[in-house]
Amino acid sequence: MAILVTGGAGYVGSHMAHALVDRGEKVVVLDDLSTGHRELVPEAAKLVQGDIADTKMVTKLITEEGINAIAHFAGSIVVSDSVSDPLTYYDNNTVKSRALIAAAVEAKIEAFLFSSTAAVYGEPGVDLLDEEQNLQPVSPYGWSKLMTEVMLRDSARAYGLKYAALRYFNVAGADPQGRTGETREHATHLIEIAAQAATGRRNRMQIFGTDYPTPDGTCLRDYIHVTDLIDAHVKALMHLLNGGDNFVANCGYGHGFSVLEVVDAIKRVSGVDFRVDLAERRPGDPPALVADNARVRDILGWEPKYDDLDTIVKHALAWEDQLVKGRVKL
Ligand code: UDP
Repeated sequence: MAILVTGGAGYVGSHMAHALVDRGEKVVVLDDLSTGHRELVPEAAKLVQGDIADTKMVTKLITEEGINAIAHFAGSIVVSDSVSDPLTYYDNNTVKSRALIAAAVEAKIEAFLFSSTAAVYGEPGVDLLDEEQNLQPVSPYGWSKLMTEVMLRDSARAYGLKYAALRYFNVAGADPQGRTGETREHATHLIEIAAQAATGRRNRMQIFGTDYPTPDGTCLRDYIHVTDLIDAHVKALMHLLNGGDNFVANCGYGHGFSVLEVVDAIKRVSGVDFRVDLAERRPGDPPALVADNARVRDILGWEPKYDDLDTIVKHALAWEDQLVKGRVKL
């Protein structure tokens, strides 16, 4: 098997590249390195710096490397940026994905995996989200991903494309072996920011909103360890290559933690009592997002191995520690 991993120098994509290399697969990473880092790509993978919408280059790569599957992680992920600059998000996440899907169809790629998001659900009023919920994104980011799901669905019907779209809840943690992790200059994710506060890369953090209709007033999220998420991708790839049906599925653990619980866990695991300020709500944050994960379990036989907040936090802190020590040039 030879897999093209787009965005393979980024957080989730680099974990996929490592997991595939660990299995002895041939991996080609395609990344424009706009937010990715070449240090995160496994040595055994080939790194090509380029644009997923450069169809001529992508087609040549698929032919020359004998690519038979694509795992598509490349994209922009900061929800607030998508609100202030929607056209860039539609370009990076929708228009460029269209070009990549077209190249995949043309080359008769056998399996296409897509990183989708719980943001396709918008602000649902239910406790546990299954895939049949209304798809009503509240941000251009969510729409940009949903449109790509729609292109995949329609390309499957029209051209027989084999695909799986995985809707991520809150991805967190880092490679247990410490080879890669979340590495962004401008952190926005809760565990990433709290880990920076614990390791001294910032001197305080804020909690956005304490008056939500949740048990402690802060938002509930379903934090999934990146390694479990990647395990679902590898299983999805095998499922498609073995003739399994196309599917769209949530990836989460099925239970949530509040912002306060996460901050407490980071303080407890790190032993650092960093400063936390209570702040206004961040616009666009729904009170609770928790996955019903029955479908991904049923279809793939997926079972989480790291469903433990302290473990997620421990791995995130260990990676953050490496960043503090200059493991990756930021
Ligand atoms: N959050 C926070 N402080 C931060 C970053 C995030 O209180 O510095 C909160 C945020 O408002 C949300 C939760 O943590 O309720 C998870 O946010 P994150 O950005 O990690 O993921 P999202 O659920 O927005 O995709």
